[in-house]
Amino acid sequence: MGTRAREAVKAAGIKVPELVTLLNKAYADEWLAYYQYWIGAKVAAGVPKGEVVDELEEHAQEELKHADMLAERIIQLGGIPVLEPKLWYEQANCRYLPPKDPDIRTLLDQNIKGEQCAISVYYKILDFIKDKDPITQRMIEKILKEEIEHEQDLEDLKRDLEMCCKKK
Ligand code: FE
Ligand code: FE
Ligand code: MG
Repeated sequence: MGTRAREAVKAAGIKVPELVTLLNKAYADEWLAYYQYWIGAKVAAGVPKGEVVDELEEHAQEELKHADMLAERIIQLGGIPVLEPKLWYEQANCRYLPPKDPDIRTLLDQNIKGEQCAISVYYKILDFIKDKDPITQRMIEKILKEEIEHEQDLEDLKRDLEMCCKKK
């Protein structure tokens, strides 16, 4: 095991390698989510797209921060964050949806699906931790709170678009 912090998590009854696997799968999700938002913001088309692009860019940065938090915790737990980007696809829980249709409505729908998947992933990790690892728990709760905000932000934008600009 190594560090006292790791031993404490194990002593609390957590199977540390299993937790590391769950965190690594979420880590792969976050990189794909980051890229989906980032590239979506680049290709976005439609009027008015400005507000959607700003939100996609903001969420991209938040997903990247989630990847950062997960990588640090994986290392603290004695694991190695996924080193090969090609493995993100294999290990992710959630599907990467390439933004082939640049319509902002389609982009919003794709990203809403991603957020809904992320929300279930983080609830499952909390269920696995069951109050036995307060450090990981607090981190996951913080990420989950942001994923819930992301989903709501996208739903709000979608509603605003429907009210302002009917699709022709
Ligand atoms: Fe995230
Ligand atoms: Fe998110
Ligand atoms: Mg937002």
